[in-house]
Order: sequence, then structure tokens, then C-alpha cells
Amino acid sequence: MTNDKQPTLFENPPLDEPLQLLPLDQYDVIAVCYSGGKDSLACLLHLLDLGVPPSKIELHHQDIDGQGEALMDWPCTHAYVQATGDALGIPVVFSWRDGGFVREMLRDKEPTAGVSYEREGARVSLPTIRASLGTRRKFPQTSADLSVRWCSAALKIDPFARVLNNEPAYQGKKVLVVTGERREESSARAKYDETEEHRCNSRNHLVHQWRPVIDWTEQQVWDIIERHRVRAHPAYQLSWGRVSCLACIFGDNDQWASVKSIAPERFSRIANLEREFGTTIKKGQSVEEMARKGSEFVSDKPEELRRLALSPDAFTKELFFLADGEQWKVPTGAYKRCGGPS
Ligand code: SF4
Repeated sequence: MTNDKQPTLFENPPLDEPLQLLPLDQYDVIAVCYSGGKDSLACLLHLLDLGVPPSKIELHHQDIDGQGEALMDWPCTHAYVQATGDALGIPVVFSWRDGGFVREMLRDKEPTAGVSYEREGARVSLPTIRASLGTRRKFPQTSADLSVRWCSAALKIDPFARVLNNEPAYQGKKVLVVTGERREESSARAKYDETEEHRCNSRNHLVHQWRPVIDWTEQQVWDIIERHRVRAHPAYQLSWGRVSCLACIFGDNDQWASVKSIAPERFSRIANLEREFGTTIKKGQSVEEMARKGSEFVSDKPEELRRLALSPDAFTKELFFLADGEQWKVPTGAYKRCGGPS
């Protein structure tokens, strides 16, 4: 959605009008929020189809475990994201809350940790200043309310905003943030606007947000991935319907049974923490109870595929595109209902 009307840098549109994006070539940076999942991948491929040069694009990814204890995220996700950037010649900016999910969850009368990021080979630390002391000592709760479902806000939204607001390369620039929500996914997402002023828009820089696949069907998403002959994140081939965290708090019974099957140590750690906190992730049901009710769907998958998903460095740029002669197949997780952020 572009038009020829060009708002001046730093000028805000009237509140009741949908934001009109600038022509894409007028943005200095197009920052794709890239989880490694199919929808943000579709956004990226769509930008390339529209002729946006890779040199204009940056992939932004938040490491949920923050390079601290590996508990929640897929071990291969960081490598998959890096492989995407390497294969397409697009730089990747990784950011994280220091100490990640576990440190934030174990906070006990402590301030939240700072944020770090890596961009163009440099690592930058953004300490938290004047943070109030707080206690969590519980998992995020499965709710649309981000104050109790704290992982999205503390580990994704805030680190990304701090990078945008503090990295000198974005100051005085026009930045387009691209995200992959689709209306079909949930009633909450059905109400999202396709374009809006990003929360980081300020006198320091213009920041617009675009959701280019907001009205796409899942079929359209898989079609563009197939057309570009891209190998999707290994979790889809292991029958996960969404690529969020491996142990996403929104997991259903079958997912928890599958986490227990593929990553038993992590599952035990989560179950033990639920007992220690005296609060379960899902109200009234422990992950142990959910896993008992569910049926795991991973043990029949090839060993090689499970190893790829559980390795932090096996997914390389050579794997991102299918090899010559290799046939693209719809992953077994495609079109499957799976618990994930709403
Ligand atoms: S909502 Fe799920 S995918 Fe998102 S950060 Fe929390 S656990 Fe991870």
C-alpha cells in the first residue's frame, strides 16, 4: 500500500486516517521483524518480489533465551535466521534481553536486565537505567494481556524498540518496520491495521509499520515459500503448525507431549519450575498434566531432522534453498492448528 503523497519526515498523519506509506524506495531502512516462521519469511520474500533491493533490508530477530540458559526457544532458530540473511545477502540484527527468558522469569526484587544487540559485527549493550525493582517468579500466563503474558513485551517488543531508538544508524532516517501478522490467525489480529505509525516514531526518526501479508491466507504464504524454493524452519517439518518458541506457553496438549518427547530435559526443568513457583503456565493445569493428555507427534520423524532442529549451528545458508533437483514438499505442520501467541 503506497501512494504518491509524501508526508514530510517527522510529520504525523491525522489520527482518524489510515497511515499512507511512502513509496518503498523512499525509506532508508526496511526492518523486517523476522522470527524464522513462515509469515515473516513470506513478508521478506514478498519484499524481494516487489523489487526491494536486499541492501535496503535488515532482518531483526530477538533471541528469546537471550544467550542465557536455553529453555524456551528452538535451538536451531538463531542459525536458521542467520542462514536466511547469509543466503539472501541481507544483514541480520540480533537483539535480546540480557539473560533472556530465564533471568527475567527468576527476577526477585530485582530490576529487569538491560538489552544487547549485534549489528554489523559490533555488540552494543543498552543498560536499564532507573528500573524499578520487581518480582516475577512465574511463567508468563496464557493471556492476550501483555502485562501477564510478559514474554512478548519484555523479550521481543521492548528489545526491538530499544534498538530502533538507540542505534545511531536509524537516527534522522526513515524506517519501515515490516511484520507478518495475518488476520486469519486470531480474532485479535483480525482487528490490526495494515499500516500504522510505529510506536518508535518520534522527532528523531520516522518509523512506519506495514503488515504486508495481513490479508493473506496460509495457502498464499506456503505458495510464495514454494515458489522461492525455500526450506522452511525445521519445526514445520516436525509437524509444529507455528514457529514460535519450542516450549511456547500457548502450547496445546499434543505440543507439550511433543516437547517432552524431543527435549525431555527442558520439559523437566519447566515442570520443576512450575512446582517451585506454585503457579502453572496454564491456569489449573500443569505441563505434566497437559503432556499426559496429549499425543506426541515427533518420534516418527527422521532422526536427521530432529538433530537439525536441536542443533544451534547445523542449519547453514547452503540449506536455505532446496538443492537442484530436490522437490519442495508442504511441511507436515502446514495448515495445522497449534497453540501460539494470539
Ligand atoms: S508467547 Fe510463546 S513464542 Fe512468544 S515469547 Fe512467549 S513463549 Fe515464546
